[in-house]
Amino acid sequence: MKIVFDKISSTPKHFELHYDSVLFRGTLKKSSHHRVTLESNLAGEKTMVCDRCGKNYSISLDIPLVLTLSDTLLNEKDDLDSIEFLDGEIDLVYIVESELNALEGEYHYCEVCQNSSEPLEIEF
Ligand SMILES: [Zn+2]
Repeated sequence: MKIVFDKISSTPKHFELHYDSVLFRGTLKKSSHHRVTLESNLAGEKTMVCDRCGKNYSISLDIPLVLTLSDTLLNEKDDLDSIEFLDGEIDLVYIVESELNALEGEYHYCEVCQNSSEPLEIEF
């Protein structure tokens, strides 16, 4: 789902996107000529793979997400939570995918492993 950068005005525009079992919704609002503020929330379920035992488990998500989007190159003064869309189109699928990938990149243990203090021995 792509939204043309120039079509966003200073009146917040609501969006809603279903991605797998995640609902990504919020508003887009122009904050300056080349900046759009995204205020949103990711809610739903996501399957994760435990970093300790390798089992699949599912987590429920309820993540607030505020980002600055730009259609020009960002400079160092811009905060870290910003994304460039140089082709002038805001790709909401890209945003939700990046967020979910970031979640997967963090260490995470399933419930069993979180509650276990014993070291795990894997035999090959
Ligand atoms: Zn585990």
